Amino acid sequence: MGKYGKMKLGTTVEINTQVVNGRCPFCKADSLLVSIHKTIFRCMHCGSDIEQKVNGKISYIPLGGNIHMVDNTRDLTNG
Ligand SMILES: [Zn+2]
Repeated sequence: MGKYGKMKLGTTVEINTQVVNGRCPFCKADSLLVSIHKTIFRCMHCGSDIEQKVNGKISYIPLGGNIHMVDNTRDLTNG
């Protein structure tokens, strides 16, 4: 009987985390941006996800959706 105990799939977790300096469009701060996807970066300052656009120059735009808008002004209730 052969030994087939070594059925281990190569679990190579490849995380190419790239950290760049950029200007976050949310908090308007020069912050560290960590790539969580090819062109998606996360601001280390405010935690927002932004998309990197490269057209001539690199610019960062806010990602649509998934943006938490904390609206505390609508606290009025008409009884
Ligand atoms: Zn930010």
